[in-house]
Amino acid sequence: MKSDIDIKQLLSAVDVPAQWVGLREVYEAHTPRMIRDGVPVANGRAFTHGIMVEVLVNGQFGYYGTPNMTPKGISSAAKKAYQQADIASRHANFQFDESARPSHTGSYVSPFLKDRESLSAGKLNKILLEAYNALKVSDKIASASSLCQVIETSFSFVSSNGSDINQDFLMFEFDLSATAADGTNQQTRTFGGMRGTCRQMGMEYFDKYEILANANRIGEQAIELLSADDCPTGEMDAVIAPDQMMLQIHESIGHALEVDRILGDERNYAGWSFVKLEDFGKLQYGSKHMNITFDPTLESEFASYAFDDGGLKATKEYLIKDGLLVRGLGGQESQIRSGLDGVANFRASSWNRAPIDRMANINLEPGESSFEDLISQVEYGVYMESNKSWSIDDYRNKFQFGCEYGKLIENGKMTKTVKNPNYRGISNPFWRSLKGVGNEDTFGIYGTPNCGKGEPNQVIRVGHASPTCLFENIQIFGGV
Ligand SMILES: [Zn+2]
Repeated sequence: MKSDIDIKQLLSAVDVPAQWVGLREVYEAHTPRMIRDGVPVANGRAFTHGIMVEVLVNGQFGYYGTPNMTPKGISSAAKKAYQQADIASRHANFQFDESARPSHTGSYVSPFLKDRESLSAGKLNKILLEAYNALKVSDKIASASSLCQVIETSFSFVSSNGSDINQDFLMFEFDLSATAADGTNQQTRTFGGMRGTCRQMGMEYFDKYEILANANRIGEQAIELLSADDCPTGEMDAVIAPDQMMLQIHESIGHALEVDRILGDERNYAGWSFVKLEDFGKLQYGSKHMNITFDPTLESEFASYAFDDGGLKATKEYLIKDGLLVRGLGGQESQIRSGLDGVANFRASSWNRAPIDRMANINLEPGESSFEDLISQVEYGVYMESNKSWSIDDYRNKFQFGCEYGKLIENGKMTKTVKNPNYRGISNPFWRSLKGVGNEDTFGIYGTPNCGKGEPNQVIRVGHASPTCLFENIQIFGGV
């Protein structure tokens, strides 16, 4: 996956009178494998490779991406980026200088034990086929699928002020799904909710016996849901598993804290935020149990890295500490514009997009309680796993989420299985009702490849990790 392009050499092909120039080379290969209803349906391998040329002219950044990585191609792209920045500078509402692109050198290789070639396409297909068979626990499983996509990515970034960064990643997306049907009654169970699980690690993840055990459980639970009672409706406690917490964090914290969104950049497209610039350092976002971090250092999480796409060094930072909002998701440009502290989250989805403020790994830090402690505190409530549906307004405030699988909790004990568990809330009151946070043993690491934002649209990878959490007096309802 190493490129034979000499990106430093190409920097000298740029001959425009810019204040600053940066080149970002991205190579990415996808190898998807999928078994749907017993048949292999995805077995190709696709790649994309190109360079984004960035220039700073009269205080404005201009961008031009090209797959033509010759000196001529880069020179021509630089002229177009220059033109764009020059025109934009006549209508500027903010002037940047070189400090928006600090100079850093370094490298990152995502940790793995077994590389992609260590598990042949044939062997991986065989595991997926066996997993598919393990999902089919009964004739009532009307549809099942198992899938895995291996992703290999290399980023290189060089700039006229001396940045020289190389980062290589090995990642995968993995999911299992079983839909049970009995007449019009239909229930789907998946591995990790509708977004599957996504990690930054090697083929050591694909332990056949663990995958088959999970496939079996998912198939059994889909069947179990067919005859389960509907989730009760009313105000009661909710114990939420990490594979639903990931979406709760993503939608009601992650997007709400993107500083470019708070500044209004996304207002006509992805929306705005209920959080205001003056809230940082003052807003009690949630209860004292709530500690949210931007953590690009957690090993094996999907969006770990050492530098963002503006060359900023990535470090773990608290966004919310003991419930208090302390820091935003703003890269160097947003930090300069807003005057707020931020993080290294200026990221582009590929070589043909300009970086913007994104989530990376946004995690809820573990607390003290065991799973049993959390359940034992509930007199009457519902335990919920795996996201099935979601909806949140464009201020990231009022939301409604549905899960795949629920268990009724009565007098401190989990009793019967319930189907269609849903809950709704408003971001701050909901997080202020966080009453208990699970310990490391309840901690789950998830991620999604599908976070969309920006014009033109960019779909990017994010990671979310969380323990199991207890919220008190939540509006819970069945049906849907
Ligand atoms: Zn998103």
